[in-house]
Amino acid sequence: MNRTLLAALFFTAAPAIAQQSITTLPQPVVGDPRVAALRDEALANDHYAWDIVEGLTTEVGQRLAATEAEARARDWAVKRLTAMGFANVHIEPFTMPVWTRGAESAEIVSPFPQKLAIAALGYSGSTTAAGITGQIVYFDSLDALRAAPDNAVRGKIVFIDHHMMPAQDGSGYGQFGAPRRQGPTIASLKGAIGIVIRSIGTDHHRNPHTGIQYFTDGAKPIPAGALSVPDAEQLVRILERGQPVVMHLTLVSQKAEGGHSGNVIAEVPGRDAKAPILLVGGHLDSWDLGTGAIDDGTGIAITAAAARHIMDAGRPLRTIRVVWFGAEEPGGLGGKAYAAAHGKEAHAIAGESDFGADRVWRFSSQLMKSDPAAYAQLTAALAPLGITKNDKGEADGTDVEPTITAGAPWISLSQDGTRYFDWHHTPDDTLDKIDPAQLRQNVAAWTAMLAVLSGGIEPGAKQPKRR
Ligand code: ZN
Ligand code: ZN
Repeated sequence: MNRTLLAALFFTAAPAIAQQSITTLPQPVVGDPRVAALRDEALANDHYAWDIVEGLTTEVGQRLAATEAEARARDWAVKRLTAMGFANVHIEPFTMPVWTRGAESAEIVSPFPQKLAIAALGYSGSTTAAGITGQIVYFDSLDALRAAPDNAVRGKIVFIDHHMMPAQDGSGYGQFGAPRRQGPTIASLKGAIGIVIRSIGTDHHRNPHTGIQYFTDGAKPIPAGALSVPDAEQLVRILERGQPVVMHLTLVSQKAEGGHSGNVIAEVPGRDAKAPILLVGGHLDSWDLGTGAIDDGTGIAITAAAARHIMDAGRPLRTIRVVWFGAEEPGGLGGKAYAAAHGKEAHAIAGESDFGADRVWRFSSQLMKSDPAAYAQLTAALAPLGITKNDKGEADGTDVEPTITAGAPWISLSQDGTRYFDWHHTPDDTLDKIDPAQLRQNVAAWTAMLAVLSGGIEPGAKQPKRR
């Protein structure tokens, strides 16, 4: 859309607004044409989001939490957000243990010697360079492992097999992620020398899916890895031949205390410094196998792009705070650090984009109950993007969860997750998986949300052209 026409659409009421105090500015109404124009401009022309995710994945690449690569990503982020015209761009650092991957391999020693594709899970125990050798003991679920007597497991390598099905809402992840999150601890407490799981993924590529797990309840760290889905199926066929199966497993890793991570924060300052803040963002860190394009390069890109579209239109009443959280993958450490520092500040909304780059298909928000008028405005503003309201939805976003627990109202703009777990936490999480048109639809949705909840945008000086 032509910029002049766009400005005319937004700001037809501008002369009248100039006479009024900021608190009496007209609020967006249901079907507000100014919100619609902002949304439609983002849908048609957004390039900010693509530029961010293309830049980050190309110029930084993988950025495992607390490593030197994540530090480079923070520096990159500060430069980019400053260049985009955000205010108060800064890093809020914190320390944490740093875990890094070394040599890893798995092979069947007998009865049918062959190599399998494996990747260590985060914070796996390390083998020596020589690896370990043990007999495989099979379980079809985490519950089956839980129920097994210790003597069936002791001295063996546990294998948990389970099938995750694709779902638009990604609902399988909670249930099927449990073997990854809890399996290593249970196996260790029963005396296993190692554990391999079928990847938490919906693809049939020969790529293992990594992800976090922690040893709890005093469990001694043991080597813990994920086999790719085709390799897990291969192992099942080998086991079905009925002979004892022996695996040689090498999973070398290092863990050190005193690593550094941090949140990168940027703002669009509101006209009313005391008004509750609109908090949006995603996480800057990624796993180390791909380049963290869909997890979560797109989340940080979408939310910053949306904030920039509001900046293009003028100055919101409420401050928009964009946070690119550090160290989400090892357990949401950035989100906890943010809540510890800012959880007591008044937030008007908290929302995170962290489910890939496919289109937003529904939304839900606590505002349904606490501010039904705003909820109605959101419903109207998002409907033209093919987004329906979900009155039964829940808060999501690991990074904003602690702030929501501290009292911030939540919003979830839910992306279509049908394809997400084909690539999640694998070497396949790369830029080419992003559909630019669906990415723009995401930006349009977040822009519309921010415009509705902005408290009213006062047209300002035309923004200089920035990246
Ligand atoms: Zn993520
Ligand atoms: Zn992730």
